[in-house]
Amino acid sequence: MTARANGWLAVAGLGPGDEQLVTPEVRSTLDAATDVIGYFPYVARVTPREDLTLHGSDNRVELDRAAHALQLAAAGARVVIVSSGDPGVFAMASALFEALEGRPDLIDLDIRILPGITAMLAASARAGAPLGHDFCAINLSDNLKPWALVERRLRLAAQADFAMGFYNPRSASRPHQFALALDILRQECGPDRLITFARAVTTPDERISTVTLAEATPEMADMRTVVIVGNSATKRIGRFVYTPRRAD
Ligand code: SAH
Repeated sequence: MTARANGWLAVAGLGPGDEQLVTPEVRSTLDAATDVIGYFPYVARVTPREDLTLHGSDNRVELDRAAHALQLAAAGARVVIVSSGDPGVFAMASALFEALEGRPDLIDLDIRILPGITAMLAASARAGAPLGHDFCAINLSDNLKPWALVERRLRLAAQADFAMGFYNPRSASRPHQFALALDILRQECGPDRLITFARAVTTPDERISTVTLAEATPEMADMRTVVIVGNSATKRIGRFVYTPRRAD
């Protein structure tokens, strides 16, 4: 199939939850769309309209979802794939390009990736500035990589004294791994390092708490939580947590 000139495909980040944190670019792109594709709870965040078809799908069907979006756009539809947060952070933008590798005939399709505010940055802003110096982001899920690699990256990032943001920290299907991650962090960072649990940031269910690694327990995280561990200089100031901009 050759791409029809008027079809396009955008991969958009809806931000962490609050409507005010959806960018004007994403909003106007959704206004112009004919089809919205994504995981059910994200599609549910898009206001329905008569001339808009909503295609909600289950989790873990990212490649099918991306292939469907490519097909629709190639047939002339104006398609938005929605992700939470930013679409390039452990989300649909990479899945789209993986699907595109199997469809070289569609390489000239009008494709755009529209950024959004990722959970780690929304959480950091709520806590203060725990990511004010060098930091990294690690997905703790071993769905798409071996757990041994998660452990290795965790240990090396801690040794390099990065502040860290953890996505997908703990799910019902793998409840023990986050306890292992906390053990590694305690070994590498000591008991006094600050760790922030930020749940459902910018939604009515938001809950933020900062404790030391000695006080942290696995139950403090679930799949709606992003976890931020400070570096060796991260400290409290009043109700805030911040990381100084300098390191020796
Ligand atoms: N693309 C998304 C991340 C998808 S992975 C983004 O950029 O934010 C899903 C993980 O993101 C969740 O397990 C959780 O760790 C984190 N997350 C997403 N939204 C969140 C929110 N509002 N508050 C806290 N964590 C969130």
